[in-house]
Amino acid sequence: MDLSLSGEEMYGSLGVRRIINASGTTTMWGGSKLRPEAAEVMQKTSGVMADLGELNRAAGKVLAEICGAEAGVVVSGSGGGLVMQAAAVIAGKDPANMVRLPDTTGMKDEIIIHRSHRFGYDQLYRAAGAKFVEIGDGRRCYPWQLEAAFTENTAAVAYLYAQFVSKRAIPLPQVCEIAHERGVPVIVDAASTLPPRDNLRRYIREGADMVILSGGKGIRGPQGTGILVGRADLIEAAAANAAPNAFLGRSMKVAKEEIMGLVTALRIFDQEDEEAETARYREMMQVVMDALIEVPGLRVSVQYDRIDYLVPTALIEFTSEWNGPSRDEVLQAMATGNPAIHLHQLGDPDELGVDPINLDEDEVEVVIRRLREELLRPVGR
Ligand SMILES: *Cc1c(COP(=O)(O)O)cnc(C)c1O
Repeated sequence: MDLSLSGEEMYGSLGVRRIINASGTTTMWGGSKLRPEAAEVMQKTSGVMADLGELNRAAGKVLAEICGAEAGVVVSGSGGGLVMQAAAVIAGKDPANMVRLPDTTGMKDEIIIHRSHRFGYDQLYRAAGAKFVEIGDGRRCYPWQLEAAFTENTAAVAYLYAQFVSKRAIPLPQVCEIAHERGVPVIVDAASTLPPRDNLRRYIREGADMVILSGGKGIRGPQGTGILVGRADLIEAAAANAAPNAFLGRSMKVAKEEIMGLVTALRIFDQEDEEAETARYREMMQVVMDALIEVPGLRVSVQYDRIDYLVPTALIEFTSEWNGPSRDEVLQAMATGNPAIHLHQLGDPDELGVDPINLDEDEVEVVIRRLREELLRPVGR
């Protein structure tokens, strides 16, 4: 690689185009922009050898302190964290068990999960041998349904926090109370719920025994890293199953410089002025709103979710008065245009969004120009 090239030119030398990611921290569209400080720390530490065991323990202490937990360990994204959570609650730190996963013969291997919490990544729990016991009907769930789901094989209760799903479940503190009465841990995946920064600590505060957060999303650490924090004995078990040890987690290894990069990014993220950040995003999205507000048939607003995702997002709703191209046609045209622009597809099929977390001011201008072109394009009849 010619080191005098720009980043965009480096991709170009492989025939790869840069894209604009207005969809949020979607991995497929590049994840997030690595903090420059993290990149510098990674560059410096990558050429210096360290004992991974010692480094893991030291980094884990930093994660635990910032997240208000007993212990922590760096994992390979929230994806890797899901496998390690399951391995920890099923096999513990007994090597005779750990070496057999995903064969769980003789181990407690049932994970109770709300039907509304089944999600695209839950195969990663099953990758460690977990069997799901589903509760609720997908729309609601009562405490008695949870109480009735425990058996002598229950290893944990899983709980998901993500935009658009979490409100349908029994509240986490109540789940923890019910599970803890039976001596069963509660494992939380809250991968993409940062900011707000309070979510670094919230789930532990509410009683969770282990929590996963992505290092490469809102925190803007290395894409492949994740944070696993929680009860000391469970984190010890997770770390035992993880790389560099030769157990199930060996295929999910995290490099020394990635660990250093995550620690750096997390410390900076935690100290940032959240109010100023939110105000800046809101201003960026106000510009998007102003550019589209007078288009007849569209309803444009700036929305954010105080609980699960604090980044203000410009929401474009296609009302019944809309007679331009369909939402899906607009999404498609934006994604296949030049530059390719990926928008946020929210829960509702009549909505699309612009998420500013991966955009700079120039990119917002391009998104607006292209959106106006596609939205105002005459529809052929
Ligand atoms: C993004 C996400 C993951 C995967 O996280 P990575 O850090 O990309 O591995 C897992 N669970 C949820 C809920 C997510 O949003």
